[in-house]
Amino acid sequence: MKNNHVTTLEIDLNAIDFNFNYFKSKIHKTTKVLVVVKAFGYGSSAIEIAKLLETKVAYFAVAYLDEGIALRNAGIKTPILVLHPQKNNFKKIIEYHLEPNIYSLPLLNSFIEVTKNLNFQSYPIHLKFNTGLNRLGFTENNISEISSIVNNQEEIIIKSIFSHIAASEDLNERTFTLQQITSFNTISSTLIQQLKNTPFKHMLNTSGILNYASEAQFDMVRLGIGLYGFGNDETQTKNLINVLTLKSVISQIHTIEEGETVGYNRAFKAILTIKTATIPIGHADGISRQFGNEIGYVYINNKKAQIVGNICMDMIMVNITDIDCNEGDEVLIYKNQQHIESLAKAINTIPYELLTAISQRVGRVLK
Ligand SMILES: *Cc1c(COP(=O)(O)O)cnc(C)c1O
Repeated sequence: MKNNHVTTLEIDLNAIDFNFNYFKSKIHKTTKVLVVVKAFGYGSSAIEIAKLLETKVAYFAVAYLDEGIALRNAGIKTPILVLHPQKNNFKKIIEYHLEPNIYSLPLLNSFIEVTKNLNFQSYPIHLKFNTGLNRLGFTENNISEISSIVNNQEEIIIKSIFSHIAASEDLNERTFTLQQITSFNTISSTLIQQLKNTPFKHMLNTSGILNYASEAQFDMVRLGIGLYGFGNDETQTKNLINVLTLKSVISQIHTIEEGETVGYNRAFKAILTIKTATIPIGHADGISRQFGNEIGYVYINNKKAQIVGNICMDMIMVNITDIDCNEGDEVLIYKNQQHIESLAKAINTIPYELLTAISQRVGRVLK
């Protein structure tokens, strides 16, 4: 994982452990935990997180096949749910003992076909039901066809049934969320009545755990962003510990005289003399160009330094006129959760997007 780029993403494994235990304390002792490590563990390191937590979780989940293969190649033996498998992945999914989310009748039939050809029995699959997110999932109308298909074969077994809440973080949508939960309860009990085995059930993501643990905990929860220290609001985030710090150093300091410009397209024009620092991180590292022109800021020696001019592919320039600093000094591009939340807000997005955008060029360093 290490490379020689001076810009690094530090990952605090103790903080991950703390946050994991925090969410465990919010649920019953018997409720299983699935940790979602899709998208390189939200931009951190899926493999390191999986190694850290493999003895403590019932499941990991990834979005795509390759992410699951990477975990298996790293020696992870824990069950892994593939949230968005594709038909042409099914053979590989089985080869790597990954468990697919099956969300439609064509997928169900084709997965059974593949397991049949490979002479498998009771291969574990998971069924997803759409209760209002309208993204992936069977509907209530599919139940009788699902059970007749499943009861007439032995190649697969439904290990769990699940659904996903559309607005678990937003208490203004509580009525809608409770409808989703009711609908999931109806669907799952109807289906289970018709099946020969009893799959376990799950519905909650991080903000679901924080807001609906009493209504929809079921048998397992699916923890993602919370592991990295993000709750639904500032107060909840304060109960968690920061995991990710994106760090760099000052490459060069410039004095920009009145009338001079900084960066591409001459986007910044000095009306007074200022000092800038050039930092080796750019949009190719995941720093959105939207942060240019004083929208984003970094920390140098505990002071905010605003981004000046346009973000380059490999560099940014920041205003250090009022900061006592030297070439080689440390720069915090993402200092902590509060910094990431404020930056995300400034460009009208969410921390998830900033974390997962940090490109693979940035070395990951475990702390
Ligand atoms: C990504 C994902 C999660 C995790 O969500 P967080 O909000 O990060 O906790 C849970 N379930 C599904 C189906 C997902 O796609």
